[in-house]
Amino acid sequence: MAGLLRDLRAHLAWQREEGGAEVMDMERPQGPPLPARSGGAAPEAAVVPPAASAPLARRTLEAIRGELGDCQRCKLCSGRKQLVFGAGNPHARLVFVGEGPGAEEDLQGLPFVGPAGQLLTKMIGAMGLQREDVYICNVVKCRPPGNRNPEPDEIAACEPFLRAQLNSIGPEVVVALGKFAAQTLLRDATPITRLRGQWRTYQGMKLMPTFHPAYLLRNPAEKKPCWEDLKAVMAVLGKPAPKP
Ligand code: SF4
Repeated sequence: MAGLLRDLRAHLAWQREEGGAEVMDMERPQGPPLPARSGGAAPEAAVVPPAASAPLARRTLEAIRGELGDCQRCKLCSGRKQLVFGAGNPHARLVFVGEGPGAEEDLQGLPFVGPAGQLLTKMIGAMGLQREDVYICNVVKCRPPGNRNPEPDEIAACEPFLRAQLNSIGPEVVVALGKFAAQTLLRDATPITRLRGQWRTYQGMKLMPTFHPAYLLRNPAEKKPCWEDLKAVMAVLGKPAPKP
């Protein structure tokens, strides 16, 4: 019961953010959390050269984190307080991938804990889930100075570890939050406004590009199409459809 009430509170919080009538289809919680299996951005392109297509050996998240160590593979290492690896269920059916840590994430060493992260938490709650049900990480693991966009060499240096994380978790669905995550994973420079809402495939996983929560904070009207994207994800995961 406590979990249901928590889901409902999160759901209503997202609804209040959304602003009433536009989200009438988000008004009911969508059933129990997903069972765990055993075991904002500037417009320039962020696409990096294609990654090696050889199949990755599956490693644990702990092993991948250990391999990163005190990573100095790109210049973002010089400005970080903490490396932000990722957090959540290592066996999640759903993974959210963002762009990179911001100031609060850099301080706490956790992904999506600032204002945009609070909105992401509400979005996850509106899907009838909790953060502990999913896994959350970023394309680059260290904060770009001044929250600038990650540069192609930084993305290229860090992205193999994102690929390894996704390969380790093996989710059914990856949600790419914002253009950097979507363009990096898809090797596609199409603007996020056109990528979003269209199912794609990433290494055998279904991938849904949608807007970054930071973008949604600046552009609240885009929450409605984002919610449509999340409903499509819920349908693939077998979550009950919200009733009108
Ligand atoms: S952003 Fe990635 S590659 Fe660059 S220093 Fe941090 S962990 Fe290493």
